[in-house]
Amino acid sequence: MNDRERSFWGWGYVDCFPDEAARRALGAQVGTLLGVGALAPRPPPSLEAAALPSPRIAPPAALARFGSAENGDRVTHTYGRSYCDLVRGFRGDFSSAPDWIAIPASEDEIAVILRWCGEERVAAVPYGGGTSVVGGVECTVGDRFRGVVSIDLRRLDRVLEVDALSRAARVQAGARGPSIEAQLAPHGLTMRHYPQSFEFSTLGGWIATRAGGHFATLHTHIDDFVECIRMITPAGVYATRRLPASGAGPSPDRLALGSEGILGIITEAWLRVQARPRFRASASVAFPRFEDGVRAARAVAQSGLHPSNCRLLDRTEGLLNGVGNGDEATLLLAFESADHPLGPWIARAIALCTDAGGACPQGPTLRDEGASGAASAVATYKQSFFQAPYLQSALVSLGVVVDTFETACTWDRFEALHAAVEAQVGEAMKRACGGGVMACRFSHVYPDGPAPYYTFVAPGRQGAEIEQWLEIKRAAGDAVAGAGGTITHHHAVGRMHRPWYDSERPETFALALKAVKQAVDPAGIMNPGVLVDSDT
Ligand SMILES: Cc1cc2nc3c(=O)[nH]c(=O)nc-3n(C[C@H](O)[C@H](O)[C@H](O)COP(=O)(O)OP(=O)(O)OC[C@H]3O[C@@H](n4cnc5c(N)ncnc54)[C@H](O)[C@@H]3O)c2cc1C
Repeated sequence: MNDRERSFWGWGYVDCFPDEAARRALGAQVGTLLGVGALAPRPPPSLEAAALPSPRIAPPAALARFGSAENGDRVTHTYGRSYCDLVRGFRGDFSSAPDWIAIPASEDEIAVILRWCGEERVAAVPYGGGTSVVGGVECTVGDRFRGVVSIDLRRLDRVLEVDALSRAARVQAGARGPSIEAQLAPHGLTMRHYPQSFEFSTLGGWIATRAGGHFATLHTHIDDFVECIRMITPAGVYATRRLPASGAGPSPDRLALGSEGILGIITEAWLRVQARPRFRASASVAFPRFEDGVRAARAVAQSGLHPSNCRLLDRTEGLLNGVGNGDEATLLLAFESADHPLGPWIARAIALCTDAGGACPQGPTLRDEGASGAASAVATYKQSFFQAPYLQSALVSLGVVVDTFETACTWDRFEALHAAVEAQVGEAMKRACGGGVMACRFSHVYPDGPAPYYTFVAPGRQGAEIEQWLEIKRAAGDAVAGAGGTITHHHAVGRMHRPWYDSERPETFALALKAVKQAVDPAGIMNPGVLVDSDT
């Protein structure tokens, strides 16, 4: 791990946050887009001005040695990185800071911490990279508890074993994306799970939230990579068997996947890894009408070609990303393989797109990158995709209300869902902010439906940004739920999506989940308020 300073309120490294001149230029651009004139940047907050209460509890000496009650550590563990986390952090409001940060280096230490939490009525909030956008690591747990401990997994960050024959690796839960890739590289292997938060999020966080990576088809969710999981629960070890597949009853892995820290602390997993890709093919197809792009994306998703990328951008999304001419929708296609050249695959995908009304005048780009190809592609990906979150932090400093939300629905429902989202979120932006801009892309596509991903940008009123955002967020949640979509395709439930999640899942499932929680977490200390209410 490097020792570059991380922002205590915004995204990523302090040295990557745009300086005042860059933010002023951005303020002029965004002000024009929103029709409100140039927006002036406010200076970023200082750590010294952060307001937080004194700790309510202190661990016994035997535990205190592997943790911290320093204000700086408590501040950095107060929030994830949702829009309202950024706004509250920018305002210096850290009123819900955890009382103590535990940084265990072993499963034994985790077990000791959980035992103490249970005995002392202290809530335990697992913390991976802290990139949750749904309040998953927030310590607002109610007054049933005497205090809250944030349990940071950063010391469990190693690839412990590689089974080259089965092409699998045993990885600790606190390892972040770049560290996993760096440790697999000497074996000629890669995981290739790239959520946009890749640089700072961890394997444990990915498993706990069922994260979605960059593959638009096939291996999209972390679920697809997991062979088995180890988790420390307050009731003991929960370890599943390493298998390529199994039909033995409901899957114990599935219970841990998406458990969002309410059952226990995931400490490691065996993962399916891959050979580094060598052959690549890509193309960009333009569509005068978004709905033709939708038909093309569906045709490709149902073709059995399984592209690694099949991202449809509407014209506004293209404009925001510098793709296309701003008049048309764009479908970005890509294939990758460690084994074979991909000319026929990309040619067939382009043919499906042109049948649907698309144009690809430049044709495909085909590359054979040899053994070193993957590293340069990762670097390119890093530069473009991974820089985008810094922009959101910069926009917060300009007082802009800016956020994303995502869903998934079956193809037969997409048109109505998209229309409902455009209408209801558009109206909410008008009510709350006087107007705004919304963009749509498909982040993933399945044979039976797309995962539409929306971005909204609207002018904020200083001091009222959270109320404005809430009105838009509620409209977005109601629109996707009302039109038969899921409240989240990959950003998880956390505390933020509870109302919609509660009505999305069967009530009998809620009862079953509560019973499971009661069995492995009898004192109800694990991440209270997330996914399900404990009766304890
Ligand atoms: C800019 C940005 C881009 C993003 N892009 C994507 C994306 O492309 N795809 C995607 O899926 N998500 C994305 N996210 C959301 C977030 O990165 C994911 O939810 C990610 O999986 C969280 O990982 P983390 O290590 O940061 O977990 P944290 O934020 O620390 O925790 C997330 C949840 O998991 C629990 N948890 C964490 N570690 C463990 C553990 N070891 N055991 C048990 N519970 C644990 C926490 O208690 C919490 O409930 C993005 C977020 C941001 C801010």
